Amino acid sequence: MPNHRQRCAQALPETLSLLKQLATIESPSPDKAAVDACAAFVSEQLSALGADVTIVPQTTAGNQIQATWPGVDQSTQFLTLCHLDTVWPVGTLAGMPLHEENGKLFGPGVYDMKAGTAILLTALQVLREAGLPPKHPVRMLFTGDEEVGSLTSRNLIEAEARHSLLTIVLEPALAGGQIKTFRKGVGEFTVVAHGRAAHAGGDHQKGINAIEELAYHIPALQKLTDYTTGTTINVGLIKGGSASNVVPERAEMEVDFRISQMAEIDRVVTAVQGLRPVLNEARLEISGGLNRPPMEHNATMVKTFEQARQLAASIGLTLEEGSTGGGSDGNFTAGLGIPTLDGMGAVGDGAHAAHEHVILASLAERAALLATILTQWEA
Ligand SMILES: [Zn+2]
Repeated sequence: MPNHRQRCAQALPETLSLLKQLATIESPSPDKAAVDACAAFVSEQLSALGADVTIVPQTTAGNQIQATWPGVDQSTQFLTLCHLDTVWPVGTLAGMPLHEENGKLFGPGVYDMKAGTAILLTALQVLREAGLPPKHPVRMLFTGDEEVGSLTSRNLIEAEARHSLLTIVLEPALAGGQIKTFRKGVGEFTVVAHGRAAHAGGDHQKGINAIEELAYHIPALQKLTDYTTGTTINVGLIKGGSASNVVPERAEMEVDFRISQMAEIDRVVTAVQGLRPVLNEARLEISGGLNRPPMEHNATMVKTFEQARQLAASIGLTLEEGSTGGGSDGNFTAGLGIPTLDGMGAVGDGAHAAHEHVILASLAERAALLATILTQWEA
C-alpha cells in the first residue's frame, strides 16, 4: 500500500500556498459577502479537482458548498466537514499579517480552520494524482456559520451525516496534536428582566428595577455549575439601564452553559426555564437552550478512534486523543451515533487568539493521514 506521506510532504509548498490564499480571503461569520467570497474561491478549487460542486445559497449566513469527489452524491459516503467562517473581522490581517516563523504559519483563521480545507484539498489531489480513488465517495460540506452556532447549516450537516459511514471534521487538533474524541455540549440562554422606569429621585417607589431583578438570578444560575459532572454555567454578558438617575426598565444577561452528560441537559434547562421574578410586577423573558449535544466518549467513539490510530500508525504517525469544552459540528454527527473523527485538521495553537498558528509539517502529515483513512477505512 502506498505511503502517502512522501507525496504529501512534496506537496507542502502547494498546501501552504493554498492556505495563505484561503487566509487572505478574510471571512468572519457575520459578514456574508466576505464568507461568500471564500466559498466562491473554494468551489473553484473543488471544480479544478473534478469534484461535483453545488453552492447552497443562504440569505442570513455565508453560502455553503456541497461537493462530492469522485462522482456525484451516493447512498454510501464519507462525510467531511469544514467551516469557512472565522471569528476575525475583515481588516484583522492588516494588524496581524500572515507570517512564517520557525516552521509555523501565523495569522487569523489559519488554525481554526482554513488549514482544514487546505489539508482536505491536498489529500484529494494526492489521491487523484496517484489514481487511487477513496473507498467511498467523499461528500464535502463547507459551511459559513460554525463560529456562530451553525444555525443555517445544522440540518444539512445532519442530513448528510445520516447516510455517511464516517464523518471527518477538519477542525484543528488540540495543541498537542490529539484529535478530539470528547466534546462538551454547548448551549446559551438570554434572560431579559423587564421592570418599570421611573425617576430615581422623584419617583423611586414607582419604579421596578430590572437590574436588581436580574441580579437575584445570577447566583442561582452560577450555582448550577457542577464540576463533578462537567457542567458549567457562565453568566458572561450583562447589560441594562440607561442612566444612574433612572430606575432601569430593562436588563439582560447572556448565559453560556456546557455539559458533559446528556442527563444534565434536563437539570440545567429546567432550572433556567423555571426562574421566576422576585420583585413585584417584574417580568422575566427567557430564550435559548442547548445548541450542540455533547460528543460522548462512548463505544462507537472508542472503536472509531482505535481504527484511526492504527491507520496513523501504519504510516508511522502517532495519533492520540483528547477532550475539549468547545463544541463543533462534530457534536451534531456524533450525537446521531455516526462514527466521527474530529480535530483531524492542523496541529497548532491559539484558536481565536492573537498567536493563532499552524505547524507546517502537520499539514502534510494530516493530509497523508486523511488520504490513508479515505482509501483504507473499514466500516
Ligand atoms: Zn472551528
